[in-house]
Amino acid sequence: MKIIDKLKQDKVTLSFEVFPPKTSDTYESVAKATQEIAALRPDFMSVTYGAGGGTSDYTVGIAAGIQDQYGVDVLAHLTCASSTRAHVAQVLEQLKARGIQNVLALRGDIPEGGAPADDYHYAAELVRDIKAHGDFCIGGACYPEGHPESPTKNADIDHLKAKVEAGCQFLTTQMFFDNNILYNFLYRIREKGITVPVVAGIMPVTNGKQIARICKLSGTYLPERFKAIVDRFGDNPPAMRQAGVAYATDQIIDLIANGVNHIHIYSMNKPEIAAGIQASLSEILK
Ligand code: FAD
Repeated sequence: MKIIDKLKQDKVTLSFEVFPPKTSDTYESVAKATQEIAALRPDFMSVTYGAGGGTSDYTVGIAAGIQDQYGVDVLAHLTCASSTRAHVAQVLEQLKARGIQNVLALRGDIPEGGAPADDYHYAAELVRDIKAHGDFCIGGACYPEGHPESPTKNADIDHLKAKVEAGCQFLTTQMFFDNNILYNFLYRIREKGITVPVVAGIMPVTNGKQIARICKLSGTYLPERFKAIVDRFGDNPPAMRQAGVAYATDQIIDLIANGVNHIHIYSMNKPEIAAGIQASLSEILK
């Protein structure tokens, strides 16, 4: 099923993300984690493309496995900055052949050396190519705190609008830890005429040190309440895990209470985290 059709229903959706293995040695452990997450039967699952240490070679296979074996709809990520039009066309053919209808169109990181390859500079170009290639449901990324390369938040929203006009049917946000940042962003994009559904990306933090590094790189704001949790529990992994799931659950309940119906969990190949969040929301998701 196309994800846009789920997002248009007046119903809360919960989705989970997995990333492919880095090497073939770790394929089995990723496959096992993926199966356990799929068995939770979320509204859909997304499979990243070369992000989080995973390699892009496995994205299509893992996504197709989730769909075929568990009947869970999938969103396959696809990046373009270090790719060519020919390669993108090849991946899209593979997705079509495996019955995958949903693609998250991303620029990806600029390759070392500074400039993207000639074929693609921005995700909007990829969106146009995917649209021309077949009947895919196309999503894109958005950044409530502004993309780190963007000179201003307004410029970022203008580019986002162009990406939506190119054919992006829904948006998934970068992680954020203060819901007011998302509410403010939603107000600003709606004012600019971006009306597509926005899926809120939530990162349950289970490793205090790792998150401090990621936030520094992405410019994500860490509220004092969150920092206190990391300070207190960061060196105690089981306690940090419990506190991280509780913080994320609290964020999600506030989002849903305020009308943000679509929640995507950056579950990082951790079934226990996905299951913990789903269990904490069991009555809310009914
Ligand atoms: P774009 O939409 O192209 O934007 C990138 C920058 O260019 C922004 O600053 C934007 O304002 C600017 N821009 C856009 N158009 C123009 C223009 N015409 N002129 C000037 N400036 C312009 N990375 C991976 O490698 N694999 C993944 O699977 C992956 N999944 C992700 C999922 C989500 C939900 C998110 C939020 C990010 C993900 N990323 C992934 C990271 C992403 O690739 C990076 O954040 C990347 O730096 C930007 O990608 P984008 O698609 O948002 O780019």
